[in-house]
Amino acid sequence: MKAYDDLLTRYADIRKLGLAGSILMWDQNTYMPPGAVEMRGEQQALIAGIAHERLTSNRMGELIRECSSMKDMSPEQASIVREIERQYRRASAIPERIVKELSGLEPVATQRWVQARKMSDFSIFRDSLEKMLSLKREVAELIGYDDIPYDALLDEYEPYMKSRMVREIFGNLRERLIPIVRSISDAVEPGDESARGDFPIPKQESFFRMILERMGYDFNRGRIDVTAHPFTSGSMDDVRVTLRYDENDIRPGLFGTIHEGGHALYEQGFLKEHYYTPLAEPISLGIHESQSRLWENLIGRSVGFWKAFFPLLQEAFPVMKNRNLEDFHGAINIVRPSPIRVEADEVTYSMHIMVRFEIETELMDGKLDVDDIPQVWNEKYEKYLGLELRNDSEGCLQDIHWAMGAVGYFPTYALGNLYSAQFYDRALESIDGMEESISRGEFSSILGWLRENIHQKGKLHTAEELVEKVTGHPLTEDHFISYLKRKYSSIYGITL
Ligand code: ZN
Repeated sequence: MKAYDDLLTRYADIRKLGLAGSILMWDQNTYMPPGAVEMRGEQQALIAGIAHERLTSNRMGELIRECSSMKDMSPEQASIVREIERQYRRASAIPERIVKELSGLEPVATQRWVQARKMSDFSIFRDSLEKMLSLKREVAELIGYDDIPYDALLDEYEPYMKSRMVREIFGNLRERLIPIVRSISDAVEPGDESARGDFPIPKQESFFRMILERMGYDFNRGRIDVTAHPFTSGSMDDVRVTLRYDENDIRPGLFGTIHEGGHALYEQGFLKEHYYTPLAEPISLGIHESQSRLWENLIGRSVGFWKAFFPLLQEAFPVMKNRNLEDFHGAINIVRPSPIRVEADEVTYSMHIMVRFEIETELMDGKLDVDDIPQVWNEKYEKYLGLELRNDSEGCLQDIHWAMGAVGYFPTYALGNLYSAQFYDRALESIDGMEESISRGEFSSILGWLRENIHQKGKLHTAEELVEKVTGHPLTEDHFISYLKRKYSSIYGITL
């Protein structure tokens, strides 16, 4: 057991370095003066370098080998060793030359991407993107894969998930989504006036704080700040949420808050006894996203939720005074195919992801040339969403992910939608009067269920195992599709 204890201690230090880096990143996106950007880059690089060195050290390798052959390991211990080994293996596969090339290319590619998007000129980004993709292809070869190179990249964000499974589930999802999107597009759209008007920012701040408190977010171990692109960072006893406000529309701030709140509850939900081990870490980005979407969409955009909060909204904002719950509920659930992913509604959202998934896998397989991205992108938007895009800024240049080298990341967003609906249905079966509690603004039963079944497990199971264990069957699009049909039939007064 000496080796095991040593392994845990070393891993805890690596995790502490990572979390210190995430607080620096939070600061960079909130309060850091712009002139400090170079210094901060150096500090971040140093921390990342030390963590990488420690993770890939010979001693780490020896300890992992010793622990892997340990007899009578508990399931917890086995998962801890499995997950540390996984990180060690992936990090050790990449030589320092590539790590340096990638970290050098990232700021350049990001700068080019910003310029290209501003000018709506793909050619400005083209060379950096090609370089990035070729490095990513090299990374995939070094890490290795069973089926296609994309598997090795997807695995970074959605561990153990295979492209084959994603392709299959996206295929089914697409077939079932297309008629739903078509029927909704043909129906009369609810107006959005009842979510617009004068919403003073200080009032929004205190309203959102109240919602986070009711959800169960612990302000003693977290805080709220403002950014352009909301995110949640940190873990365990220091989980920070960032928000943005729109003075003339309550929706961006409101649903940003509930979404980030869902992420934050996951990170605050780990058990103290597991801190700094993989059992106090999220399973995957898809599972993380399932937590944010469950709160944002299944709970936060439901009638029940607003039965509790609409009167409080009216109290906080005079502009809401003569408005009614039904109109407001329509306004927060408008479905309309649009070019920009981050502005997409929950029905059309997955279509945006499918376009990116198909393009990324073909780029990695060498079946698609960089120069053809804009055209293929536009063709797919036409085919899947019926949209004719006007330029590359609202087309293939809209996301920062490729510039940052995050190839394989996109599928986790759509998987999050599917996981969330499947978890929600199971929670509904398990908890007596769950939706009645929600419509009283009480979330302790649903949060307790999420804590017990998902948060407190950390990385004990893989995502695939967790879904099976919690819901009784593998991941399927069924739950998400029935949820959409149920909800939008009623909002749009149509049969889906
Ligand atoms: Zn999210």
